[in-house]
Amino acid sequence: MATLREELIEMRRRLSGIYDHREREAVILLIFSHVKGWSRVDLIINEGKELSDFTKNELDGIVDRLLLGEPIQYITGNARFHGMDLKVGPGVLIPRPETEELIDWIIDDAGSKEDLEVLDIGTGSGCIAIALARNLPFSNVTAIDFSESAIEQAKENATSLRAKVSFIKTDMYVWCPAPQTLDIIVSNPPYIAPDEKVDMEVRVKDFEPAEALFVEADDPIKPYKRIEAIAARGLKPGGHLYLELNPRYAEDVSSLFKSNVWQDVDLRLDSYGKKRMLRATLS
Ligand code: GLN
Repeated sequence: MATLREELIEMRRRLSGIYDHREREAVILLIFSHVKGWSRVDLIINEGKELSDFTKNELDGIVDRLLLGEPIQYITGNARFHGMDLKVGPGVLIPRPETEELIDWIIDDAGSKEDLEVLDIGTGSGCIAIALARNLPFSNVTAIDFSESAIEQAKENATSLRAKVSFIKTDMYVWCPAPQTLDIIVSNPPYIAPDEKVDMEVRVKDFEPAEALFVEADDPIKPYKRIEAIAARGLKPGGHLYLELNPRYAEDVSSLFKSNVWQDVDLRLDSYGKKRMLRATLS
């Protein structure tokens, strides 16, 4: 039997190899919250207590999985996003803080309007569609994804968060919305080129779904070309398309919106100062 204090020392030592100090402490809190329902205060109060062998094994097993690269969100089955607890599993991309910034841009633009028709392309966990359904009053949100397991998880998330979203399992390269019916289209499509893999963390490149991350080397902005075509048809005049971008291709994507079909295109930086978001307005 080990005390909590001893176990914490051991966990910190083992996790130091893969996380910096701040991340390590955050992950330790997530582990204890998942295994014991304990908060930071409980960790202090219980420091001298002995842990059962069962609990110790469970904690050590999670650290083993983290050391092999598995993301903590897949281990706990949970990710915090835009004030919500989302269920996430290996079939969907773990929602990122940059995507919260994209959602905030949309809510800043549209939060006071009602009855908006909204489409999210490649919804994954449903994070964007659900956040918008909860923040845009009386909106009608539709979300599509070609992955069966993404649609299942997104539906489950929408139900548990009481968000009204219509999900369609379909392929964006085949499916198209009815013409001039939408006020907002949003997408965070795959945008990482294969040669960027070398700089990526194991927990992203080996554990998160490749089809949600990677594009083909010979046409890295292919998903954006298709989304531009969908938006040019499906948006009402004056409607907005919002996209998350790979900063490396920000200018290439932006040049897709230079034709007179589009009246405005704005790029926005994320909180790290990278060109991460685009808004295009249909003429
Ligand atoms: N932002 C994600 C990352 O950097 C990628 C998301 C995407 O490809 N759309 O890992």
